[in-house]
Amino acid sequence: MMHSLTQPSFLVRDFELVLEAAAFAAHKHRDQRRKDVAASPYVNHPIALANLLWDEAHVHDPVVIAAALLHDTIEDTETTRAGLEAAFGAAIAAVVVEVTDDKTLAKAERKRLQIEHAESLSHRAKLVKLADKICNLREVADTPPADWSPGRRCDYFDWAKAVVDRLRGTHAELERRFDEAYARRAEVALTLEIASPAARRLR
Ligand code: ZN
Repeated sequence: MMHSLTQPSFLVRDFELVLEAAAFAAHKHRDQRRKDVAASPYVNHPIALANLLWDEAHVHDPVVIAAALLHDTIEDTETTRAGLEAAFGAAIAAVVVEVTDDKTLAKAERKRLQIEHAESLSHRAKLVKLADKICNLREVADTPPADWSPGRRCDYFDWAKAVVDRLRGTHAELERRFDEAYARRAEVALTLEIASPAARRLR
């Protein structure tokens, strides 16, 4: 990678902030594993978002990169908005709050609200949301949760697309990469057809 840290757009302070966010996320998610067969460390996921934003989409806003690293800390760990504000400032905390689901609601309702709220997110939150959906589709295509049937994986692809369709016009490169990730639904759907009718009953 040829990114120069001497560019005025990314200062030493920004670099420190992003490293602190990575360390904070690694600590908060330290006991969590993804649900794939390998049970990979959960923190691989927020790191994948930050890497995608920086390296593939050339989003070099330190607030977005740090928020991507922290995006699941309130939802999935013992982290509060106040805690994030104290450590990283109000702007980063606000983006994380925007992409945090209300876990007091049922899962179906949370999923519906993600579609409904997508358009009203701030630009920064939309970037994090797009990166999250791209990474999730890549994960569901390559290393899905061990207990997900092909039908459930296809449903996930369709729901992610319903959210992203409300985010169109935010960032052309991220949307292109989402569409690329979504195209792999066909592979998953094929396994659904091959495995039918037994697999259909698992839906
Ligand atoms: Zn996520």
